[in-house]
Amino acid sequence: MIRVVSSLAILACGVVLSCSNIRSALAWGDEGHEVVALVAQSFLDADVRKRVNALLAADTDPLTAHDIASAATWADKYRDANVNNARERTRQWHFVDIEIAAPNFDEACFNHPAVPNGSPASDGPPADCVVDKIQEFAAELANPATDSEEQVAALKFLLHFVGDVHQPLHSSDDHDRGGNAKRVSAAGLSAGNLHHFWDTEFVDQLGPDPRTIASDLIGHITNEQQTQWQAGNADDWAKEAFALSKDDVYGQLPTPNARGSFRLPDDYVTTATNDVAIQLSKAGVRLAMILNQALRKP
Ligand SMILES: [Zn+2]
Repeated sequence: MIRVVSSLAILACGVVLSCSNIRSALAWGDEGHEVVALVAQSFLDADVRKRVNALLAADTDPLTAHDIASAATWADKYRDANVNNARERTRQWHFVDIEIAAPNFDEACFNHPAVPNGSPASDGPPADCVVDKIQEFAAELANPATDSEEQVAALKFLLHFVGDVHQPLHSSDDHDRGGNAKRVSAAGLSAGNLHHFWDTEFVDQLGPDPRTIASDLIGHITNEQQTQWQAGNADDWAKEAFALSKDDVYGQLPTPNARGSFRLPDDYVTTATNDVAIQLSKAGVRLAMILNQALRKP
């Protein structure tokens, strides 16, 4: 089993990321989303944290528990349970499929369709990308005129989508369904597809459970990183994740074997695990920034 460098060392060295593009079905597994929410929680203003907890406590949706970590997995459960045809209505909101060979951000965002006047963002067009949805839900959360049910939905979508946009295979595609069509294996890890490795396997390398991973990451985020990471918006973060995908997710893949599957060397696993630690940390800091801006008292 490859146990990668502690996330400490990783964060301390001030890694530079690039970006990539993810697509397809799922983003981070539940664990990755929980880590992002727990990191974010530690960067919330005290009054915003109370407001977030109050909004979640008022939620009656049975799909998840109502703590911030569980609520961050809600958008996947909602899609998969197909509530009110949620699969078709919300599936594409989880990614922005920027093509590695011919990147076109606006095309990957379906040319940014507007939410019809008077409709909540949660009823917006099915063909829309994660970047637009983050911006729409952040605006709704900040708007005191948003009704309370939609406010809770906006919060839960944000808790999830800010994580998704940082999963490099949710911000890139190489005509392989965001890595779902590439079969990979690595020493000590169970074989699966490339997307699954970035969703789950590399997250598992960081620690035994979301709370442990989150507190390790939080302990190593410097003030300088926090300030630096808060720059830009979801658009920039998707492009950054796309670059990471191009450089590391796809760029570091070895030559496939005769059957077309990829045996990842230890170096790949180490780099990927470090990248995942940084992406989860950035997502947490940026999610906190969005929630602080939306819910801070004027
Ligand atoms: Zn998702």
